[in-house]
Amino acid sequence: MKYDVIIVGAGPGGIYSAYELITKNPELKIAVFEAGNELAKRKCPIDGDKVKSCINCKTCSIMSGFGGAGAFSDGKYNITNDFGGTLYEYIGKEKAIELMEYVDSINMANGGEGTKLYSTAGTSFKKKCIENKLTLLDASVRHLGTDKNYVVLENLYNKLKDKIDFFFMTPINSVRKTEGGYEVVYDGGSADAEYCIISVGRSGSKWMQTVCEELEIPTESNRVDLGVRVELPAVVFEGITDELYEGKIVYRTQKFEDRVRTFCMNPHGSVVNENTNGIITVNGHSYEDPALQTDNTNFALLVSKHFSFPFKNSNEYGESISRLSNMLGGGVIVQRFGDLERGRRSTVQRILEGSVTPTLKATPGDLSLVLPKRILDGIIEMIYALDKIAPGTANDDTLLYGVEVKFYNMEVKVDNNLESVHKGLYVIGDGSGVTHSLSHASASGVHVARRILDKA
Ligand SMILES: Cc1cc2nc3c(=O)[nH]c(=O)nc-3n(C[C@H](O)[C@H](O)[C@H](O)COP(=O)(O)OP(=O)(O)OC[C@H]3O[C@@H](n4cnc5c(N)ncnc54)[C@H](O)[C@@H]3O)c2cc1C
Repeated sequence: MKYDVIIVGAGPGGIYSAYELITKNPELKIAVFEAGNELAKRKCPIDGDKVKSCINCKTCSIMSGFGGAGAFSDGKYNITNDFGGTLYEYIGKEKAIELMEYVDSINMANGGEGTKLYSTAGTSFKKKCIENKLTLLDASVRHLGTDKNYVVLENLYNKLKDKIDFFFMTPINSVRKTEGGYEVVYDGGSADAEYCIISVGRSGSKWMQTVCEELEIPTESNRVDLGVRVELPAVVFEGITDELYEGKIVYRTQKFEDRVRTFCMNPHGSVVNENTNGIITVNGHSYEDPALQTDNTNFALLVSKHFSFPFKNSNEYGESISRLSNMLGGGVIVQRFGDLERGRRSTVQRILEGSVTPTLKATPGDLSLVLPKRILDGIIEMIYALDKIAPGTANDDTLLYGVEVKFYNMEVKVDNNLESVHKGLYVIGDGSGVTHSLSHASASGVHVARRILDKA
């Protein structure tokens, strides 16, 4: 099989590369290889009845398939250079924002119209944060919601499917350099193209490492983010979420001068389990549809750790701590803030008596037995700092779920075109370590598509 461009991975990075290429040059022959299923067939077997917990499917329907890791996400498109990746370091701040806005316009034209774009521009909240030793990061946030995000992906797939060859349930085993470009090899076959875009996300991180070793592409270790997910009555954070939807707030701890930050805020949302390679961690999401919303708001509080020498596998550190929480709690642990402060575990009874009804069934326990003291101290300090701008945050009944972990891929060495040391081989999205969000990953896809269009 001979193509002009082969794309490995159909997450946002791969989808927007494909979209841009075929829209601007319909003559191009493009193939997309995806380890997971097409969107309509992505079904997690956990039904809470017959299948209660993860059965470790060969391909995880939550993380893999058309739409990638973000398919069932909250669909928050953050248009900013302040977080979500370091794309701007490669292509410049102005260009990065322009591409994120371009992606937003495509989403709006494909089912996202009518969704709200929130912005920190001109908010008085910024001053209130500074007065309380907190920093509010600048961003515009398009909240598609889990439901509309799915509709956008469905529409994009319907537009692309007759113009591009999609190969689902076809993980690529290896990428080889040939005289005229690249050959990708899968079980039972192979395909060739002049250009190859690799966009394999977090789930493809181990495979990406092998490809880099085989093709001698330099890499660098990355950080891991560790912390808890906070759940409280939505009314406590309404001042922030009504205006901004999501406030990305950073706090520098007094004790260690560590940075603690809020992440993935879900007004009226639900706390959910996340399965990363068999380890159960916690996450959150919320729906655009009011009928599916709850009375609670949740967000993560995270601290970054980056190891370099002699131990340099930051992700392994995060995995070990998550495993410890799974060992003690059989999964995710939940604790009342008041119990944590009093140095005692939470119990079913104490949680039942509390004023916050948990949206996730987790095991009441003691997070101080899991998270390192330095990280936990930072989180507690930040909860008190947040209490000053959102009174009620440090309430005894506020729930903390642990652990929340954000793993990052190693950074693959790429140039300003996101092209590796091998001409015509591009590495984009979360798999490159350059991005870690829907907006940055999608923008990186458009960027390489345009570089290829310039040459093809
Ligand atoms: C529960 C959850 C909620 C999230 N919510 C948000 C949010 O609200 N806002 C936000 O900005 N970000 C969010 N994120 C992060 C966001 O989903 C990712 O940053 C984004 O999906 C990265 O896009 P990507 O294309 O780089 O990789 P991915 O989306 O991970 O896609 C990579 C694809 O490559 C495929 N693949 C892997 N290896 C191979 C191989 N060898 N051969 C073929 N295919 C392969 C995978 O199956 C996958 O489908 C969330 C993530 C999760 C898990």
